[in-house]
Amino acid sequence: MRDPILIAGAGIGGLTAALALLRRGHAVQVFEQASQLGEVGAGLQLSANATRALHLLGLEQALADVAVEPDGKEIRLWSTGQTWKLFDLGDASVAEYGYPYYTLYRPDLHRVLVDAVRSIAPDAIRLGARGEHFEQTDDGVRLTLADGAVHTGCVLIGADGVHSSVRRQLFGEGPATYAGCTAWRGVIPVDRLEPKTVRQVGTNWVGPGRHVIHYPLRGGRLMNFVGIVETDRWVAESWTQRGSHAECHADFDGWHPVIHALIRHIDVPYRWALMARPALTRWTDGRVTLLGDACHPTLPFLAQGAGMAIEDGFVLGRALSEIDDPVQALRRYEAARLARTTTIVEKSTENGRRFHNPELASASGAAAYVDREWSPQRVRERYGWLFEYRVDEVVL
Ligand SMILES: Cc1cc2nc3c(=O)[nH]c(=O)nc-3n(C[C@H](O)[C@H](O)[C@H](O)COP(=O)(O)OP(=O)(O)OC[C@H]3O[C@@H](n4cnc5c(N)ncnc54)[C@H](O)[C@@H]3O)c2cc1C
Repeated sequence: MRDPILIAGAGIGGLTAALALLRRGHAVQVFEQASQLGEVGAGLQLSANATRALHLLGLEQALADVAVEPDGKEIRLWSTGQTWKLFDLGDASVAEYGYPYYTLYRPDLHRVLVDAVRSIAPDAIRLGARGEHFEQTDDGVRLTLADGAVHTGCVLIGADGVHSSVRRQLFGEGPATYAGCTAWRGVIPVDRLEPKTVRQVGTNWVGPGRHVIHYPLRGGRLMNFVGIVETDRWVAESWTQRGSHAECHADFDGWHPVIHALIRHIDVPYRWALMARPALTRWTDGRVTLLGDACHPTLPFLAQGAGMAIEDGFVLGRALSEIDDPVQALRRYEAARLARTTTIVEKSTENGRRFHNPELASASGAAAYVDREWSPQRVRERYGWLFEYRVDEVVL
């Protein structure tokens, strides 16, 4: 292909696609609306399906330098703190799925991807470059930026996130409805916490109508906190909307003292209104396609949003390399990815209901519920198919 591949959005998905394409010798131009590169200061979990893609893109060492490999995940009860094993990670993830399970500080992952893209093509990422609209021609796409500049490419990938303008132009605005839950999130320097709270595990605290996830980041120096609350009070779907410690404490009134100790030490508590959007049944039109949150935004209850964006980027890189006709390549990419991502979005919603079940209210009812819902067999059914996915082998 003579003209470059245009990518709108330098988030985790857009950069993974750029890297996958550059490594296969394509010319790529990434347009990012922000004037500076960076990511919000929050954590991210990446399971073997996503780390497989990142390792195959040559990032194994760079990630090992910044990621934590937790020993496992645990379920804890909101009231008593009773603890159950969810699954083993660390060596067990590598033994079972071939690749590690990482918890990462988002800016660290973003920097690793930016550095890898720039090491191949130093000028591939343009900042302060907001894609406004596109036009398709017989043999290409023209993307017009907010400053009026026009760029021509052989295809356009809309990797521009949950508020995607490429999706809007392809399929219209589409309804977004408040999902009934707000997410509190923040990071905690671990030296503020009691040592017994600071363990190399990911912890899911479950309770009626709310749950909390926390896990270590940055060599264990930071702890990520996410607290999801069913509430009618919601503010905005934004990573930068601040809330107060008092409001966060109030949302977890009656919860275990460990939860309140964590909240007390959060640097800045942010809150994010979780929105639901109907699944798209197609993402592609001619030479334009979508990836990541632009086409399958999800509730975060399986921790797979960024993982799906990474998988998309890798598979798209393969499709545009292995199939000569770009229109066919985009169609086959979509066909390879649609069913899996739609199922993940559905199962994420379902997992939220599991975490918040009313049966968790009393300690005795909760024990029977947890034993049933998180039995080894049910855990295997829920997570095995997610983690064992192979981006490099999926049929195109
Ligand atoms: C509370 C919470 C916890 C989460 N935890 C996890 C987790 O543990 N694991 C996981 O896998 N996922 C998690 N996710 C989901 C994950 O954050 C997203 O799915 C992921 O960031 C999507 O990546 P993306 O590249 O598609 O979009 P984004 O990361 O949103 O990137 C889009 C980029 O496009 C840019 N952009 C937007 N419009 C334009 C335009 N018109 N022109 C140019 N640039 C543009 C933006 O500035 C941005 O840089 C979580 C989400 C939430 C809300």
